[in-house]
Amino acid sequence: MQHLWETLNTLFFGGPIPHTTFRWKKLPRSELGNTTSCLLGLTITMNPSRTSCDFADYVLLDFLSTLVHESIHAFLQSYACWSCRSWDRDYMEGGHGRSFQMLARKIEEAFPQLLGLPVRSGRLDSFLGDFGVREGKEKGRLKGCVPSVHDLEMWGFEDIDPGVRNEDVRVLIHRARAMGDV
Ligand SMILES: [Zn+2]
Repeated sequence: MQHLWETLNTLFFGGPIPHTTFRWKKLPRSELGNTTSCLLGLTITMNPSRTSCDFADYVLLDFLSTLVHESIHAFLQSYACWSCRSWDRDYMEGGHGRSFQMLARKIEEAFPQLLGLPVRSGRLDSFLGDFGVREGKEKGRLKGCVPSVHDLEMWGFEDIDPGVRNEDVRVLIHRARAMGDV
């Protein structure tokens, strides 16, 4: 998984982020993964016993999607400017603000073209979690903080499909492979 994470970073973020490690660990509640930092660097943790269930029985695509989600957190935690005046608005408490949404949407678009597989970063659920609409670890961090209409348009939430069945996943994979052939 560490190798896969490094490959994803080479493809989408210009190379592996230094001093970052990966580990599997059972996490509390419904948490699929998290990215934490300390003086020694970053740690991406993924829960082996839970998936997002976005791809029916194709759990590998779920784990891949969670890894993409945490890779975006790792990238922003490493390279976003925490002193910048716009940091609060761009990153947002909870981590799924404008910067996360823009990166995640672009990666969801590019991933099928580059790798022939669909990916879902869970960006809508995470945002709703931050906003207090979804249950979970990140519940309610953004009470009273509403993104602009322009942001919501740019983030393209309306393009996100709800949960899908196996047949839908097969169609998704087929379409993703076709995009890679263009
Ligand atoms: Zn997240």
